[in-house]
Amino acid sequence: MEGAVSAYLLSRSTVDGYAAGIDQAARLLADRLRTVRQPYSGATEEQLRAAVDEVDLDRPLADGDAALREAARLYLDHAVWFHEPRYVAHLNCPVALPALSAEVLISAVNSSLDTWDQSTAGTLIERRLIDWTAGRIGFGPDADGVFTSGGTQSNLQGLLLAREDRLARQAQDRVAALPSLRVLTSRNSHFSVAKSAVLLGLSPDTVVTVDTDRAGRLDPVDLRRRLDALERAELVPMAVVATVGTTDLGLVDPVGDIAAVCRPRGVWLHVDAAYGCGLLVSRRRRGLLDGIEQSDSVTVDFHKSFFQPVSSSAIVVRHADTLHRIAVHADYLNPRGSGLPNQVDKSLQTTRRFDALKLWLTLRTMGADQLGDLFDRVVDLAAHAHTLLVGEDDFEVAAIPTLSTVLFRWRPSWLDPEACDELLPRLRSRLFARGEAIVAGTRHAGRYWLKFTLLNPNTTVVDLREVIELVRAAGQDLLAGDLAVAQVR
Ligand SMILES: *Cc1c(COP(=O)(O)O)cnc(C)c1O
Repeated sequence: MEGAVSAYLLSRSTVDGYAAGIDQAARLLADRLRTVRQPYSGATEEQLRAAVDEVDLDRPLADGDAALREAARLYLDHAVWFHEPRYVAHLNCPVALPALSAEVLISAVNSSLDTWDQSTAGTLIERRLIDWTAGRIGFGPDADGVFTSGGTQSNLQGLLLAREDRLARQAQDRVAALPSLRVLTSRNSHFSVAKSAVLLGLSPDTVVTVDTDRAGRLDPVDLRRRLDALERAELVPMAVVATVGTTDLGLVDPVGDIAAVCRPRGVWLHVDAAYGCGLLVSRRRRGLLDGIEQSDSVTVDFHKSFFQPVSSSAIVVRHADTLHRIAVHADYLNPRGSGLPNQVDKSLQTTRRFDALKLWLTLRTMGADQLGDLFDRVVDLAAHAHTLLVGEDDFEVAAIPTLSTVLFRWRPSWLDPEACDELLPRLRSRLFARGEAIVAGTRHAGRYWLKFTLLNPNTTVVDLREVIELVRAAGQDLLAGDLAVAQVR
């Protein structure tokens, strides 16, 4: 082939342009990483909107170089940097370098993991990683699973499988049975559980809230009571959802005790370990997962505690046949009995990225122990953060951390709790507007709390001290400003 139809499509004759483009993008990013000193520039929404809206998408720039520079100005200059040690807001991690090398490969080859003839070894690599994860969970050889776009999709699929499993065992007709199905979970489970129930066509009162213990973990005794009550009301428990690592407090539901309630009754147990899955590779805290091997399905978000770039998540099931039940066959794609492995039968998606290669390259380069040690480190850091906050007179802490989150309030003794509830969201916005530190905020036990979510092993105790100081300074500034306004009035 002499030359290419377009210099911008990947082909044998554009490989030089391809390599130069990747190199250029990598160098641009490297330059930014060398100069970035805080998690956010502090640009306002108005400023960014004006800059983005100004671009005329119908008039391309002179060349790729100009386009990259424009993207750097619009995006990189004002990105939120999760690798910055004072980014301590949400469940975002600094990403593992081997996974970034994998990204280069998978986006250029552009494999699609739906059928063998679009992925070949990709399918086998994904399957090995699912088997490896199932092994870490403690499932037997009958386990299976598939990579998904994230914990939300994994939870949806877990509940879909639970629904299908239950309906397959019901004598009643599908449509007639749906309104009687119930999902039991604690108030601290992820909102995607309730969202999934809606998507699955279940009735609005499907989700039954199980009481928690004093810490906020699902109480297996109350679970038993509620299952009995459902039975008396002739309602059908479709699934129990336990959480390993609740989003706010990082709580770990007692999975073993919950499984002991579910198993004799044949109730599907789904474990949402989107956050806590890093425990699967922890050398010091694997015990927190005890009992997970008795569940029916597990959500794992590698893009949280395995330091993978988004997206990288999976649903793993104890029995492969429960997963295969959702297969739908298309003549052009996955006809029955082709004899070749395909993943589309197990997935809610059709065209699907080969995200598994990122985890593969990470495990083959770093090894599981090193990943687990990094997760252990952020859990240790949360304990340090707790100690620091407890030592400050003007800070309150919600609980001793289990994983790597800490809920706290800045409240000088003379500030009443209601005024503090009003102040803290403003304090959080002010920090974001300065960009020096980013913390999260949430409501817990009727109050507004600030939150550290620690997923960056490079964050140090010194960084945490600085963030605490920034929080205090922002609070004092705001109160001084309020006072000045009140005096003018
Ligand atoms: C993050 C999270 C989810 C959702 O996962 P996404 O990857 O954001 O879709 C579900 N459950 C828990 C407990 C989470 O922390």
